[in-house]
Amino acid sequence: MENINYFFTNKDDGNIAYHVGDIKENVDKNREELSKKYSFDLEKLIYMNQVHGNNVQVVDEDSARLIEDCDGLITNSKGLTLMVMVADCIPIIFMDKKKGVVAAVHAGRNSTFQKIAQITANKMIDKFLCKPSDIEVIMGPSIGKCCYEVNDELKNIVKTSFGEEFIKGNNIDLQGINTMLLNDIGVVNISIANTCTKCSNEPYFSYRVDKKCGRFAGLVTIK
Ligand SMILES: [Zn+2]
Repeated sequence: MENINYFFTNKDDGNIAYHVGDIKENVDKNREELSKKYSFDLEKLIYMNQVHGNNVQVVDEDSARLIEDCDGLITNSKGLTLMVMVADCIPIIFMDKKKGVVAAVHAGRNSTFQKIAQITANKMIDKFLCKPSDIEVIMGPSIGKCCYEVNDELKNIVKTSFGEEFIKGNNIDLQGINTMLLNDIGVVNISIANTCTKCSNEPYFSYRVDKKCGRFAGLVTIK
């Protein structure tokens, strides 16, 4: 069994993203402090220019540290840390401790609709021979169905593509849709953080609360 370490940051760790108008030095400092706090190698941190798509890349030591046009990273390389940045979207961590394979995924509405969770698990299965029953999935703090209101058009997409059970009024259940998509391919070991980024008052950034907010992150490392 591989020793895998994952965690989600919060507001106390500061803004982790360069793309939200923060001063570069602030983000550098926040990332450096994070690497000390959780003892990972900052030189081996891989993150994404996230675009709300469904491109999932397998990375290793030779990969660039910033992967363009990407919303999911997979690796079996020890010592690399994969990072996803969010504020309301779901940060999803995947782990197969037997095979030593991990993934970090950015699942907002669009990527969820484009089945990024399934694409990630299927790549772990196809490229690394992971068994669906060995894949553990952790969905981090994100906007819940309590708060995730959308327009009628988007609501109808959910209704026709995924089912009425994921709608209540004009609110949709992204965690539920991702869970169903994973269950459909045999991935059932799923835990969901019981924390809504918008209404919980827990220290997480929420884009729906403040459009100029920072980003927190989900990170995973094979030790
Ligand atoms: Zn809520």
